[in-house]
Amino acid sequence: MTTKKNLIAGNWKMNGSLAANEALVKALLAGVGAPACEVAVCVPAPYLSQVQSLVAGSPIALGAQDLSAQPQGAFTGEQSAAMLKDFGVRYAIVGHSERRQYHGETDELVAAKTAAALANGITPIVCVGETLAEREAGRTEEVVKRQLAAVIHVNGHCISEIVVAYEPVWAIGTGKTATPAQAQSVHAVLRAQLHHAASEHAAGIRILYGGSMNAANAAELLAEADIDGGLIGGASLKAPDFLQIIAAAR
Ligand code: PEP
Repeated sequence: MTTKKNLIAGNWKMNGSLAANEALVKALLAGVGAPACEVAVCVPAPYLSQVQSLVAGSPIALGAQDLSAQPQGAFTGEQSAAMLKDFGVRYAIVGHSERRQYHGETDELVAAKTAAALANGITPIVCVGETLAEREAGRTEEVVKRQLAAVIHVNGHCISEIVVAYEPVWAIGTGKTATPAQAQSVHAVLRAQLHHAASEHAAGIRILYGGSMNAANAAELLAEADIDGGLIGGASLKAPDFLQIIAAAR
């Protein structure tokens, strides 16, 4: 168990509109109360300003879904960490498997993006996770350790400021959730690796689970010793479901 509060972060992915976002955030604000955990919504970049206004002064923090590793310049289509900071962004997802898969993001790029976030006071939510083929080949541990090692290697002593999200690729958006025991065993591996790299901070680094977490399965996943919150895709788009997950995160 960590001393830090759990973090429940929604990943809206490429979903939403001005009207839908307003309805969703207003419903969340109406139900969230004073949560026992930290709560964030990671929204598409065009809506950062809108959602920044909607969540201002509330317990819901603003998050981005990606950021550039570069500080500024000729990088068409990208957003720097400093730009995100201008809009009150507190968290940024880094290395989501959809970025790794569809945009060819390497461990090295993920580590550089993590460094850019940390340098600008944004907490990176660093995603790691194996594909189904890797799991079936018995390579889960090797893959997640390699992905986390790249980030630790580049970010050294700052590692205490990151959030890690274990997201088995086969569980993302598929409705197939890792069992609590499957998730916990990988979280324990990641915790041990963090302990090796930063022993004094390892217990306080949050390791989220992501992959079809929903209102029905959140409580049992979050009850595991090394699961310190969730990164939630589909279920974060439905206010009642996201609120139930928040309520489960004691
Ligand atoms: C995600 O996108 O990070 C995710 C976990 O998605 P889902 O909850 O829909 O599986």
